[in-house]
Amino acid sequence: MNKRIWLSLAHMGGHEQDFIKEAFDTNWVVPLGPNVNGFEKDLREFLNKDVHVAALSAGTAAIHLGLVQLGVGRDNEVICQSFTFAASANPITYQAAKPVFVGSETDTWNMSPDYLRQAIEDRIAKTGKKPKAIIPVHLYGMPAKMDEIMAIAREYEIPVLEDAAEALGSEYKGRKCGTFGEFACLSFNGNKMITTSGGGALVCRTEEEAKETVFYATQARDQAPHYQHSRIGYNYRLSNISAGIGRGQMMVLNDHIARRREIHSIYQKELAGVKGVEVHDNPSSDFNSNFWLTCIIVDPATAGFTREDIRLKMEEENIETRPLWKPMHLQPVFADAPYYGDDTTGKLFDDGLCLPSGPTLTNEDVHRVIEVIKGLASRK
Ligand SMILES: *Cc1c(COP(=O)(O)O)cnc(C)c1O
Repeated sequence: MNKRIWLSLAHMGGHEQDFIKEAFDTNWVVPLGPNVNGFEKDLREFLNKDVHVAALSAGTAAIHLGLVQLGVGRDNEVICQSFTFAASANPITYQAAKPVFVGSETDTWNMSPDYLRQAIEDRIAKTGKKPKAIIPVHLYGMPAKMDEIMAIAREYEIPVLEDAAEALGSEYKGRKCGTFGEFACLSFNGNKMITTSGGGALVCRTEEEAKETVFYATQARDQAPHYQHSRIGYNYRLSNISAGIGRGQMMVLNDHIARRREIHSIYQKELAGVKGVEVHDNPSSDFNSNFWLTCIIVDPATAGFTREDIRLKMEEENIETRPLWKPMHLQPVFADAPYYGDDTTGKLFDDGLCLPSGPTLTNEDVHRVIEVIKGLASRK
């Protein structure tokens, strides 16, 4: 049997254990501590913008605390990109608010500014109230059209919470994803751009907001010698051990981004001649995806095979691939939520596939994946 090729494996740079050892040696095996501060500083410097960062236990927790601070509650609706992972939308329901889903464009695969406007106007007409927040997603690392989305958000005075969980290192017009919105979430889960074995961060505009985030993430303790609470808190802070892994990972982040982009360009070059198979690419030079995952779209009529044919053949060859995210408006759990959009996201779900893209892949591995697709194409 051939060696298993995984979709996106975490890869340690080598210095992670140094930071963990330091935490043990100095007895900082508690939440908070020098690694958490160091990791937050590394992230700030990487984002290269006047932002503040609060390290948390998950990207999902970051979205949740962003919504808490935007005052999202029972009487609110929150607009969310439909084409995403459920973690973008679930925290809306944690706050007992209602999600309203918006469709995607065919070029970025992300939130359509036109449908966003339509959704805002129709919700105002139907409920007499503006949606409380907007969650665009930079899916698979591809930046959403932030200029257009921010302009609409400003016009209606609705804050934006960017979901940049998959987009660490991606840029839109030379500016890092995660620095556009009022808040932004990052994720350091096992298969994201970097991992802390589990973790996330909320990117904030001001130091006060970052402090407020940490306050909520550490059980909302008031200033008092005893335990006193005037608000509901959460246990969402990143541990000092996890942050140590994060500090080590920050040392190899730029290499990982470069490698994922290189893998994408090999796929693109090699698959260019395969009819009916298209590699998702930056729509213009305004977009600079980190290519967290390289994705393809298969047009069965032209290709003579489906994405499912590819997926099953890959599985036979011991290669992990995965269909694209199933849109939220097609998920049973969100069946009642309003949707503004067309069937672009449904088609992406039907015909799209994520290819192995992790930084540990060798060129040989990438070519093994490519040969499976070429093999199917030559069978016709
Ligand atoms: C991974 C992910 C999240 C959630 O991050 P966790 O750290 O796993 O909680 C949110 N949104 C998107 C788009 C993601 O891919």
